[in-house]
Amino acid sequence: MRSFAFTRREFLVTTAASSTLVVAPGLVGRAAERKLWSSDPFSLGVASGSPAPDGFVLWTRLAPEPESYDRDSPAGMSGGPRRIAYEIAGDPALKTIVKHGTAVADPHYAYSVHAEIEGLLPGRPYWYRFMSGDAVSPVGRAMTRPALDSAPDGLRFGFVSCANYEHGYFSAYRHLADEEPDVVLFLGDYIYEYVDTRSTNLVRRHSEGVEAENLATYRNRYAQYRLDPDLKRLHASAPALTIWDDHEVQNDYANQASETFDEPAKFLLRRADAYQAFYEHMPLRAFSRPNGAAMRIYDRLRYGNLLEISLLDGRQYRSREACYREPDWGGAHPETNQSCPERLDPSRSMIGAAQEAWLFDGLAESRADWNLIAQDVLMAQLRGVNEQGEATFSTDDWDGYPESRSRLLRHVYDARVRNAVVIGGDIHSFWTNDLKLDFDDPASPAVATEFVGTSVSTHGVPYEVFARALPDNPHVKFFESRRRGYVAVELTRQTMTAKFRAVSDAQDPAANVSTLKTFVVESGKPGAVEG
Ligand code: FE
Ligand code: CA
Repeated sequence: MRSFAFTRREFLVTTAASSTLVVAPGLVGRAAERKLWSSDPFSLGVASGSPAPDGFVLWTRLAPEPESYDRDSPAGMSGGPRRIAYEIAGDPALKTIVKHGTAVADPHYAYSVHAEIEGLLPGRPYWYRFMSGDAVSPVGRAMTRPALDSAPDGLRFGFVSCANYEHGYFSAYRHLADEEPDVVLFLGDYIYEYVDTRSTNLVRRHSEGVEAENLATYRNRYAQYRLDPDLKRLHASAPALTIWDDHEVQNDYANQASETFDEPAKFLLRRADAYQAFYEHMPLRAFSRPNGAAMRIYDRLRYGNLLEISLLDGRQYRSREACYREPDWGGAHPETNQSCPERLDPSRSMIGAAQEAWLFDGLAESRADWNLIAQDVLMAQLRGVNEQGEATFSTDDWDGYPESRSRLLRHVYDARVRNAVVIGGDIHSFWTNDLKLDFDDPASPAVATEFVGTSVSTHGVPYEVFARALPDNPHVKFFESRRRGYVAVELTRQTMTAKFRAVSDAQDPAANVSTLKTFVVESGKPGAVEG
């Protein structure tokens, strides 16, 4: 749909040819011929998400001038709410329209649309598009979930994290789109708020060259990412489930504590702006609408009796990282040694008491064969050694909250949660891990399996440094930080197969993809084996 991306001047000289624009058949003869737009209002593409057995959320955002923003005229829009039309079809050519209607682009939310569609059939794909005047959006593919009382044979999903726009191109998104999974999980660092002033090998620069820190700059950052053709393609190919990590707001923030030690009240204003921009750009339901600095994203979805997914929020409710001190910003996660007693304080939590209770209840009551816990950061213990020979732990992932992790894994064991699998990102590397009741006891059982996806484009963590720690972490089955990519998962009743898909070069916009490793979890046996 590049042909709609006219500048205003180009449009004036080409309007005579505009009768060649594709017009939705359902709208011919109605308001379709009206020239409402001088440039494509659907420049940011379309998305679907939060699938239900009878529908999903359809998303777009009116942005005729996506890279020009000011508070009074976001992305070239002004005035009150706009009503736009949508069509949903049972076929990719949109020949059989099964549903059509209108949805509101809300100026309070940067003219984004979050249409909650109902009344569709379970467990099947649909195709959709939006229309406004003579402008027609690209066609997207969505998918309903299977009926809750059904027994699906299988499911295909992908998961992705950490797409720094400056560090590389989004070929991983393009190749995942081509696999047309049933659903894609975005596990955080969908945008990066900061501007990289240290790396020399950047392929492109963040909008405005400034750190995003208010509504205008966060919106601009999302718009810049959403203009990327590979990300647009992924959103148009499959419904999304979206959670955040830190860079949607600020590096390493925790709850109301900022990395830069801002006053909590001041930081919460920033968090409110960041959360609002996240809501505006994700295909989320109304229950996720932000309320000041609070926004509910943790959620549970069931695919018949095959799979239950728990989506976690690992940032909004967490305790401050243990023994946190003002970092001399080196791009490294905060780290602490074994002498930090605060780390072991059982009152500290990664997900907060309310979410923890909600998660534990859901896991205990689940009747699904597989139980996926989708969250943002590495869960397995990763014991490093510092120059003094002391054990060290990263305090920003679950190693900073070991009692919180123990409670969760103990609960998985005690409640006999069936086939618990944890997925995550953040650490810019592929991992396959056994999640054990006691990571320091070789005889302790694995109670769950962990797969961590590498970054889509963000530079990897230093390979040698991490590889050196592996002998002290025998529950780690695989580690690779030198490749960028995503994870493609095929689930059946008997097995979960995770393919670690690596792009040839994230700095090459035309990179190809190959499978680096395949791991299989067999039902009833926690821990993956190479497939
Ligand atoms: Fe990241
Ligand atoms: Ca992160």
